[in-house]
Amino acid sequence: MFDELVAVRRDFHIHPELGFHEKRTSRIVAEKLTTLGLEVQTGVAKTGVVGLMGGDRPGPTILLRFDMDALPVTEESDHEYISTTPGVMHACGHDGHTSMGLALAKMLAPYQDQMEGTLKFVFQPAEEGLGGAFAMIADGVLDNPKPDAALAMHLWTPEPYGSTRVVEGPIMSSSSVFTLTVEGRGGHGAAPHMSTDPILAAAHIVTALHSIVSRNVDPQDSVVVSIGQFDAGTTFNVIPERAVLKGTVRSYNNKLHRKIYRRILEMAHHMAISFNCKTTMETVVIVAPVVNAPGPTAVVRDAINKVMGEGHISPKRTMASEDMGYMLEEIPGCYFFVGAGNDELGFTYPHHHPKFNFDERAMVNGVAIMAEAAASYVLKNGVQL
Ligand SMILES: [Zn+2]
Ligand SMILES: [Zn+2]
Repeated sequence: MFDELVAVRRDFHIHPELGFHEKRTSRIVAEKLTTLGLEVQTGVAKTGVVGLMGGDRPGPTILLRFDMDALPVTEESDHEYISTTPGVMHACGHDGHTSMGLALAKMLAPYQDQMEGTLKFVFQPAEEGLGGAFAMIADGVLDNPKPDAALAMHLWTPEPYGSTRVVEGPIMSSSSVFTLTVEGRGGHGAAPHMSTDPILAAAHIVTALHSIVSRNVDPQDSVVVSIGQFDAGTTFNVIPERAVLKGTVRSYNNKLHRKIYRRILEMAHHMAISFNCKTTMETVVIVAPVVNAPGPTAVVRDAINKVMGEGHISPKRTMASEDMGYMLEEIPGCYFFVGAGNDELGFTYPHHHPKFNFDERAMVNGVAIMAEAAASYVLKNGVQL
């Protein structure tokens, strides 16, 4: 199915759509699933599509999830299937995921009569920080029928083509973002004693926050605290009223995540007071960690070994995050990475980069692994790959 996977993926790549605006994409998905004979539901979390396959005979319900959204990035590649929508690009590979979900449905549809159980194909909108998974759960994607297990994957260029990543337990971290405002009192740069300098206070806060990981976290736990934005001031001789810091926290453990926020608040508060400033902490959005359950992880590992041979699994985790974590909080499942990088072919740019692209052969591996894993749940005699 390589040629079809590539053609469908490139069509989505040419026509990328941002989260909750995947109208064309979800229309194509719904049409193809309907043609294949699935029972299709559209408009789940605005632009999400759910297709049920099988279900005539009793057995488990397995949720298979594929995300569809693009990013607000301007593409800088020069291949012939470059994005035609200004400022929008499939820079994470979700065009590939959507194509893979459709190929998988086409591959398994002929086995529909033999299935003992149901495959629930979930095409999700708005994975990129907009809470699409959460919106789909709120719209009932985990009910009627309730899945017994969930599988999802990501094409991954940090891992080379021909390899995969899967690990039991947390595989992607929980993520949150925060805004810290440090209030001082503005004034003339030549008379600092007449004002209260929020830049100096904020600079000390940034330095102090970087001690949280090294001094407050068990060295065996993985945590990231990063400040990505520091806004203050307008010119060289004015002490501003305030400084604003924005950052992110990543961890594999919600309890630890809360502890880190307690430390951020304590440090920022006391550090600001020591410089006669005040702080307020604004938005905090937490995405759950992606945690793989033992049973489904063993199923995926077996599928990878069967499809690709032994020795193609790397047990690496990543501090990136994914809203699939919300679904895996409710349903035991497995999320895995399909290696899609290739130094020789130039597929070396990180996800979200304006020149991001991946080795399209990786889609074949992903579909084959998903097919094998799904079949092991609902097809006693397997699929003839
Ligand atoms: Zn992404
Ligand atoms: Zn992604």
